[in-house]
Amino acid sequence: MWKVMMPRKIAYGENAAREFDYPTDSLVITTTTPDIYEKWLEYTGIKEYEVYNKVTPDPSIESVEAIKKNYEGKKISAYIGLGGGSSMDVCKYLGKLTGVPKILIPTTFGTGAEMTTYAVISFEHKKKLLQDEAFLADAAIVDPYFLPGTPYNIMRNSACDAAAQASEGYDSKLANPLTKLFCKEAFDVLEDAIINDKPQLLPYGAMLSGIGFGNSSTTLGHALSYVFSNEGVPHGYSLSACTTVAHKFNKSTYYERFKNICKKLNFEPLTLKQGFEEAADVIMPDRGHLDNNPIPVSREDIVQCLDEIINKNPLS
Ligand SMILES: [Zn+2]
Repeated sequence: MWKVMMPRKIAYGENAAREFDYPTDSLVITTTTPDIYEKWLEYTGIKEYEVYNKVTPDPSIESVEAIKKNYEGKKISAYIGLGGGSSMDVCKYLGKLTGVPKILIPTTFGTGAEMTTYAVISFEHKKKLLQDEAFLADAAIVDPYFLPGTPYNIMRNSACDAAAQASEGYDSKLANPLTKLFCKEAFDVLEDAIINDKPQLLPYGAMLSGIGFGNSSTTLGHALSYVFSNEGVPHGYSLSACTTVAHKFNKSTYYERFKNICKKLNFEPLTLKQGFEEAADVIMPDRGHLDNNPIPVSREDIVQCLDEIINKNPLS
């Protein structure tokens, strides 16, 4: 049996967030400041709402429970997560706790988190990637309106992440014909957006990627990237060389195309402070990614991949 899950309602494209029919008495959850979210709310036309804007990056379980307690007994018809990943993660977890429907509106693009059953919440200061069907949005709204104003570096990292997720998801052992369809289309759209300078296509491409990889998995490229993330390298940037080398190792059909995307985005070479052996110790236990890689990966392979990433400039 194969299974694919996605939000019950998906509204996307120009004016999606403006034309969507929102319920009244919703609680808008956002990470930004009033000068920004008030403009967004005006655009969406959401009526009779309350705003909770004290969500911090990497939200903790304590802050989720605090919101739950804060609004206990009040009539809330829906949570609306408006912003980046943190706002959406809080909505997902709250929705699971209370059963209140959730509407997710990403204002940054790349992760496709609005489409997935994943949420990242911190427990005792440690980020944990959780998966639960209850995290799935009741509605996801993807509107390129929020794209302008995104700094180039963030946009480029997000685009790289979305393309890495789509192509790793396509190759994943957990892929099925329908997830491959989404991943393939996602990569085509993202490639067109990046190579032909059509940034307005990025949100749609990231959304497709979210459905595709969210129902399969990412693989070796993502597994390699976390040792760089741990040293402060942005996620999307670390994937540029990591996923390129992983695709080469896997003989992926996406190897050349992914590399070309990274070249177009002009990523600088990566550096790593820790030694390859030490890094391999961190990567090897990441079975969630490695076990779903299309071919088996040994510790020696990991060290060799790291050597290629650092010493052989894989994007040249
Ligand atoms: Zn990613």
